[in-house]
Amino acid sequence: MDWTRGQTIGHGSTAAVSVAKSRFSDEVFAVKSVELSQSQLLQKEQKILSQLSSSYVVSYKGYDVTKENDKLMFNLMMEYMPDGTLSDEIRKQGGRINEPLIGYYTKQILKGLEYLHSGGIAHCDIKGQNILLGKTGAKIADFGCARWIDPAERDGGAEPIGGTPMFMAPEVARGEEQGCPADIWGLGCTIIEMVTGGSPWTNVTNAASLLYKIAFSGQSPEIPKFLSLQARDFLSKCLRRDPKERWIAKQLLKHTFLEEFNLNSNSNQNFVTSSPTSILDQDIWNSVEESETTILQTGSSPLQRVRELCSNSGELNWRWNDDERWITIRSSNR
Ligand code: ATP
Repeated sequence: MDWTRGQTIGHGSTAAVSVAKSRFSDEVFAVKSVELSQSQLLQKEQKILSQLSSSYVVSYKGYDVTKENDKLMFNLMMEYMPDGTLSDEIRKQGGRINEPLIGYYTKQILKGLEYLHSGGIAHCDIKGQNILLGKTGAKIADFGCARWIDPAERDGGAEPIGGTPMFMAPEVARGEEQGCPADIWGLGCTIIEMVTGGSPWTNVTNAASLLYKIAFSGQSPEIPKFLSLQARDFLSKCLRRDPKERWIAKQLLKHTFLEEFNLNSNSNQNFVTSSPTSILDQDIWNSVEESETTILQTGSSPLQRVRELCSNSGELNWRWNDDERWITIRSSNR
C-alpha cells in the first residue's frame, strides 16, 4: 500500500502511532511504527492481529517496512479509531461514566473477548487505555502482549508471563498462569476504572505492595456500593480470585446486567451524562496509579516471582507520564 504519514496520534511504551492516508484513495488509517531493529514485539502483534476479524477488535490493514530519515521502520496498519481510548473518554466525562454507558462498553469488550478466547487467544493487557472508541463504540486494541493459549505453553512455560500490574489477576501476579480468565479479571478492573475514574486498588503506595496485595492478600478490588445490584453481581463474577471460579466471557454475556444493552451502534450517545461528577482519588493516582506491563520468568516460587516482577517494574520506571496515561511497559527479552 502506498501511503503518507500524518500527525502522531499516540505514543505507547514501544511504538508511536500516526494517522495515515492512502495515496490512491481517501482511506485514512492508523499506523503503529517502530524501528525495524526493535520491532520484534510489533511483528508479533502483526501476526496475531492479521488473523483476527471481529467488529469488536480493531481491524488489521496490513504491514510494510519503510525508510524514513535513514531509518528502517516496521509499520503495522490498522483501522483508525477517531474517538481515542476508553481512558480518555473517562477523563472527558469528568472521571466517571454512568452505569448504562458502562454496560454498553462492557458488552462490546466482552464480545471482543469472547471472540478472542474462542479462537484460543488471550489479550493479556485489558485496560481502558487499550480499548479504542469510534462510531460503533468500543473495540479491543494493542495486541502487543497477546498470546495463543496453548496447553504446551502452560506446562512448559514457553511464553513468559507478563501484564499490567494494576490490572493483573492474582494468578498472573504470582507468575503461575496467564490465560483467558486473566482477561476477565482485567475487564473487572476496567469496569472499576469506568465507575470511579481511579485505580482498582486503593491504599497501596508502591509497586511492591500492590503486587503482594494482588498476589497474596486474598482480597479482590472493592466493588463500589453505589452501583446497581446487577452491576455489583456482574463485577463479583469477574473479580473472583480463583481463575477456575471466575466466569467466562460467554457466561457473562448472559448476565442480567447486560440484558438491556442490545443496542444499535449509534445509540451510546443516549447514555452520556451532561455534568458528571469527578470522584478521582488523587492520592492513588499520584502514587501507584501507573500500570506497566512487565514480563517475568516462570519456574521460581510464587513469592520469588512476585519479587522478580517488582524488580522488573522498578527498572521499568513506575511513574505517570506527562499526559497522565496508564503506561504499558514490556520487556522483549525472556
Ligand atoms: P502501550 O504502552 O499501552 O502498550 P503501545 O506502544 O503498544 O502502547 P498502543 O497502545 O497500541 O501502543 O497505542 C498507543 C496510543 O496510540 C493509544 O493509546 C491510542 O491513543 C493511539 N492509538 C493506537 N492505535 C490507534 C488506532 N487504531 N486509532 C486511533 N488511535 C490509536
